[in-house]
Amino acid sequence: THFGFKTIPSSEKETLVGSVFSSVASKYDVMNDAMSLGIHRLWKDHFVQKLDPRGGIKVLDVAGGTGDIALRILDHARTAHYDRETSVTVLDINPSMLVEGQKRFKQSMYWNTPQVSFQLGNAENLAATMDVPPLPARGPNSKQPLLPQLESKPIADQSIDLYTIAFGIRNCTHIDRVLQEAYRVLKPGGVFACLEFGKVTVPLLAQIYRQYSFNFIPPLGQLLAGDRESYQYLIESIERFPTQPNFARMIRDAGFHLPGSPAATSLGFPAIQSSLL
Ligand code: SAM
Repeated sequence: THFGFKTIPSSEKETLVGSVFSSVASKYDVMNDAMSLGIHRLWKDHFVQKLDPRGGIKVLDVAGGTGDIALRILDHARTAHYDRETSVTVLDINPSMLVEGQKRFKQSMYWNTPQVSFQLGNAENLAATMDVPPLPARGPNSKQPLLPQLESKPIADQSIDLYTIAFGIRNCTHIDRVLQEAYRVLKPGGVFACLEFGKVTVPLLAQIYRQYSFNFIPPLGQLLAGDRESYQYLIESIERFPTQPNFARMIRDAGFHLPGSPAATSLGFPAIQSSLL
């Protein structure tokens, strides 16, 4: 089987990504479980365990969505290292995803503590991000704007110990700018950690994966979220993302040192890539 992809002009891509994630925000977590048969939880657990965050570090979780990675980081630091000093900023371009993220954190022990904060912004320009204060509960038919007036809160140079981006970088228009910004905000010795779908390299498995994703995921999106197109977009974004060696090269080009081949490793290295699938 051959697949043809009509590429999206980059000027339109941010608007499209915005509408994709706004339309799926409230069902996002359920859909992740349904589409990956729950396996995304294992990938995320593995990612955070390998990073082994501890020691009161400052973490920036970019494209943090509903906070899956941020919660795991804080839970890991607390349960494995009795660390209640490590803090995470959840940053996302989409206000609806941040609202869902805050709803989740409200049920955690980290809510209203210095351990978690939220910022609205684009991974490609972390100097133009906004602080999102704790939002009051909002009914489904509320006429209130989703977010209040926000204050500017740029991410400073060399201010972050650990930068994470999970299933987010493939949605960005300019991956090179995302990497440059990650490099700018990380302290020397800091870690860039990316969890993303790679390409399946075994031909038979690649064929099975394509059949599964193109035939199963959009109809499932239609069935569970009433939104086929958003899920069609998601699988196409996985297809378009660079191969593991090409992505590794991009990370190196941004100035990072990449130990060995793409693989998960632990804190202490200045760059890390974890490629899955
Ligand atoms: N990291 C979360 C997780 O693993 O569950 C969410 C991943 S979700 C597939 C992708 C997220 O990336 C969405 O919340 C979307 O709004 C966000 N996103 C897309 N483009 C972005 C950009 N340019 N800058 C920041 N966030 C972006």
